[in-house]
Amino acid sequence: MADDLATRVRADASTTAEAVTKGAALLDDVIRNLISRQGRYPDIASAHDWYLALAYTVRDRMLARWVASARTYSIQGMKVACYLSAEFLIGPQLGNNLLNLGIEDDARKAMFALGLDLDELLAVEEEPGLGNGGLGRLAACYLDSLASLQIPAIGYGIRYEFGIFDQEIRDGWQVERTDKWLEKGNAWEIIRPEVSYYVGFGGHTEHAADASGHLRVRWIPARQVKGVACDMPMQGFRVDTCNLLRLWKSEAVESFDFEDFNAGEYYEAVHEKVHSETLSKVLYPNDEPEIGKRLRLAQQYFFVSCSLQDMLRLMDITGTPIEDFAEHFAVQLNDTHPSIAVAELMRLLIDVRELSWDAAWSITQRTFAYTNHTLLPEALETWSLPLFNSQSPRLLEIIYEINRRFLEDVRRAFPGDEERVARMSLIDETGGRKVRMAHLATVGSHAVNGVAGLHSELLRQTVMRDFAEMFPERFLNVTNGVTPRRFVMLSNPGLAQLLDKTIGDEWRSDLSRLGALAAHADDPAFHEAWRAIRRDNKAALALRIQKTVGIDVDPDMLFDVQVKRIHEYKRQHLNALYIIALYRRLCRNPDLVTAPRCFIFGGKAAPGYAMAKLIIRLITGVAEVVNHDPATRGRIKVVFYPNFNVKHGHWIYPAADLSEQMSTAGKEASGTGNMKFMMNGALTIGTLDGANVEIREEAGPENFFLFGLTAQQVEDSKREGYRPQQYVEANDELRDALEQIAQGRFSRGDTNMFRPLLDNLLHHDPFLVLADFADYAACQERVSEAWRDVRQWTRMSIINTARSGKFSSDRAIQEYCERIWDARAVRIDLAHA
Ligand SMILES: *Cc1c(COP(=O)(O)O)cnc(C)c1O
Repeated sequence: MADDLATRVRADASTTAEAVTKGAALLDDVIRNLISRQGRYPDIASAHDWYLALAYTVRDRMLARWVASARTYSIQGMKVACYLSAEFLIGPQLGNNLLNLGIEDDARKAMFALGLDLDELLAVEEEPGLGNGGLGRLAACYLDSLASLQIPAIGYGIRYEFGIFDQEIRDGWQVERTDKWLEKGNAWEIIRPEVSYYVGFGGHTEHAADASGHLRVRWIPARQVKGVACDMPMQGFRVDTCNLLRLWKSEAVESFDFEDFNAGEYYEAVHEKVHSETLSKVLYPNDEPEIGKRLRLAQQYFFVSCSLQDMLRLMDITGTPIEDFAEHFAVQLNDTHPSIAVAELMRLLIDVRELSWDAAWSITQRTFAYTNHTLLPEALETWSLPLFNSQSPRLLEIIYEINRRFLEDVRRAFPGDEERVARMSLIDETGGRKVRMAHLATVGSHAVNGVAGLHSELLRQTVMRDFAEMFPERFLNVTNGVTPRRFVMLSNPGLAQLLDKTIGDEWRSDLSRLGALAAHADDPAFHEAWRAIRRDNKAALALRIQKTVGIDVDPDMLFDVQVKRIHEYKRQHLNALYIIALYRRLCRNPDLVTAPRCFIFGGKAAPGYAMAKLIIRLITGVAEVVNHDPATRGRIKVVFYPNFNVKHGHWIYPAADLSEQMSTAGKEASGTGNMKFMMNGALTIGTLDGANVEIREEAGPENFFLFGLTAQQVEDSKREGYRPQQYVEANDELRDALEQIAQGRFSRGDTNMFRPLLDNLLHHDPFLVLADFADYAACQERVSEAWRDVRQWTRMSIINTARSGKFSSDRAIQEYCERIWDARAVRIDLAHA
């Protein structure tokens, strides 16, 4: 078989002897894995069998690097950056791993020799949907950058058996299907039963003096769950560094023998086992109302406790004194989900390792740093005291003590200001008493960062104002970034090659090099190459759209794209209102000259978020009417692309001409989709919100379509008593669009369907959709105008890519390393390991 490959690839004159050998070795290994790991043989192997065989082969190559990395870290005692996150939305792994190892061509040739198409195998992979959206995807981008920058790092999270649901659209409505990503096995993970920890729940505490007279607290949990490590390798780009993503899976502690039980006890024991295993069963969607709260808190504590125990074990293995913990681990809390870590580390250091409170507190504060991701009040986590106490009584005692000492400091700094004390307390005493997780994270950390300049500023001025006054030095900004490996090289290979040819390939690990593109922004030959690539990407997306939803889309239309979670603050309904207005305009005036557009939406709504689901129904309803109206054929199309996830993002981001970033100013912390679009040459239409502000600064205002109220104006208008009706009265097109919806035009005559949405907009409109409508519509007119000047549009597109360097996650991770973690790179050399 290998000889066969050698002859076939040798026939290709461009193939070097080395490539032939590498390709042949890869092919041998694929076949060996197919047989010995899967018990299959080539004649009957399915595409999925081959995918697995190739994945195992690639994993083996990563494991060699992983072992070399782990050994180097432990010998050199390097500081390890630990990224704690309840979500890691890592996307499909095979393509990215081939790319980072630099063996994509070898694999393609080896598969070709087998009569297989690599792209078809890549398409077979189920992506681990272990995240909701932006926050989980950010964590995944950061792991890529950490490994690529050769920083010793571990990602810690939860191995959900069911990730984010799969979305189907039926009769225009979202339908959720359970995600079964593990059904056919996961080639990337290594389950390590020997790396496991016990995590306690419930029970009570006992306070007593020990032999030397120190007060010791013993927590006697009511039950315990075992966390087992499931590891996935995270390969750096063009380096030998391979880091670890360690996800915890819950198991029952006791195995039990049938004869030890009478029947009743037996089923009780089985029940207990089932109960323990439900802990890591399912990822909770964002934006859900109350359901499943208890389990979610249990999940958070479970993965945090396992992760901290794991760090302590790593210290023990290397014989490092526990007092040096903060010199060996920098622990980043990705939002408040893991913030219970502050109390858990204190417990482990005081109760288990018997350190003094002051020593433990100093370690804790120097270890942790906290990233805030939202200013939305409903998204700031709190847990009711009874719930917290019933789950973790000892941790609640520790939180009380942290709070007691902290509030003493507050009183010293601001004497007589009891209102401030109440505002800053870790315990919310208004209404039902609750633990405020953001306050716990802030008090227990040495650094607190927002995720874009504007967001960090608002954080200091609003939700964290008291804390920023007390600890100004603790607050900083680290603007988010995304990895150019996955979001340019892997998803847009045509663009990547053109960039290499034009400016060299250093941009792949130093995205600021894209700046050199600006010199080609007026070169007609380059324009042509640029447009050809963009057209190919659009044609590829059009084909997928045809296959998945059966809508014909002309790749020469302007692709106007909004893909992200469906949420009122992201305002997909503002987009829909504009489409209706435009459609009505085109119907009224058949000769109207405008840019032919295809509006493409994608995104999931939380299963319990009725308004978001109704917004999806509005979009599909508009699509149904618009796409079937002969009066507007060729001028306007609307597509709702189902089940938006990382894999589908690979097709969508590179095919967009226009990136919709229309959140109400002040509500989107950063956004990262906006960055993926920009790198791939889309222009942005957006508000001054999140990282849009910086995107516009980098691109230049002349290369960005700005509209809408500013964060300050949004606040002002709310304070002055916002009246949405007033905007309807002042705008005929808006009134007409709303009336069309009310009359059932997009709900097959049903005049009730959209009533909740209309009532909300007309009477509350909490996200100022109607206030921004006129400016948005006017801005879209400028977009259409600009689109008609092909040369100018191409130029702006090139400039956007050229100036996107800042938004690489490499830059973001460098900032975390220097300003927060004090973590340094270490070179891993596979040859000398
Ligand atoms: C990047 C990304 C997001 C975040 O998109 P925003 O536009 O920043 O909200 C959400 N989901 C997926 C699958 C992504 O890749």
